[in-house]
Amino acid sequence: MAKILVTGGNGYIGSHTVVALQACGHRVVIADNLCNSKTYVKERIARISGSAPGFYQIDLADLRQVQQLAEQEGGFDGIIHFAAHLFVEESVAKPLKYYSNNLKATMHLLEVFANDGQPINMVFSSSCTVYGNPDKLPISENEPIKEAVSPYGNTKVIGEQILRDHAVASGQCRVVALRYFNPTGAHESGLLGEDPIGHHTHLVPIITEVARGKRPVLKVFGADYPTRDGTCVRDYIHVCDLARAHVLALDYLAQGRNEHPFEAINIGSGTGQTVLEMVDAYQKATGLSIPYELAPRRPGDAGAVYADIRLANATLGWEPKFSLSDMLLSTYQWEKSLS
Ligand code: UDP
Repeated sequence: MAKILVTGGNGYIGSHTVVALQACGHRVVIADNLCNSKTYVKERIARISGSAPGFYQIDLADLRQVQQLAEQEGGFDGIIHFAAHLFVEESVAKPLKYYSNNLKATMHLLEVFANDGQPINMVFSSSCTVYGNPDKLPISENEPIKEAVSPYGNTKVIGEQILRDHAVASGQCRVVALRYFNPTGAHESGLLGEDPIGHHTHLVPIITEVARGKRPVLKVFGADYPTRDGTCVRDYIHVCDLARAHVLALDYLAQGRNEHPFEAINIGSGTGQTVLEMVDAYQKATGLSIPYELAPRRPGDAGAVYADIRLANATLGWEPKFSLSDMLLSTYQWEKSLS
């Protein structure tokens, strides 16, 4: 049993990961400022796990608050770092908000918990956004990192660089950056799922709003991409599969199985779906009809993005267990339970 700090543990992927950690017997402390998650989440985590994680409502961009967390909790065996602002469009409008918050949080964690030779294992929430519009598919971890399209994406690129440089220099800090593709789905208990403050911006929750009559029609952003049916291809991965990858990544570091102080690993399904294939799969999974219309491309969208997931299998022994239909049906059921 290890004591793990989960920053952003009240959020969508964070909360599912906390449940997965607790199911493996780990003791979890959450640090979250609740900027994009709701207070009911931590009670739901306790209901699923049968025990409440520690909880600090703190702002990691404030160094003093991170120091106070360390004073109260002492050290941790591992850190999973999710806490970040994550809206691409907002980041274009407010780049400083994103650079300041996301990069300070990462640096403060390192300064407080990974400095002066303190040993620490960290898993960093990264994204396939670091590959930009990729040259080769499926995308392996050896593909070049591209200049990010948005300040949000850039905080992931720079965040990885900071962690890599620090891990190499310190010799005691070991980091796995998990590069997520498109997380979706909800917990099988029906108690956790994606519930942002504000509007949904991702495809599957938006399709769900159309299915439930909350939106009249799905706008399909772009039908002239060089793909099977002209619409964008993405790699959708169930949030519970993603959560499990974090637990395995911590075990991997704890057992010293990593070859390098910093390693990046893709977490996706390994297959790509077009937007129209997603509409079709959703209709089949739920029996509901999804009206859609073709719309102009969304600025900044890459045509096709899907993962080579062989490294995750070889290093972590991870492979996805949930199907696309599981992802779509659980999202539908989750959204229905919200209202
Ligand atoms: N998409 C769409 N209509 C929407 C929302 C998304 O056609 O209302 C498309 C989007 O252009 C992209 C895919 O669905 O090709 C996945 O978008 P999402 O925002 O979920 O994830 P991204 O890969 O952009 O991070």
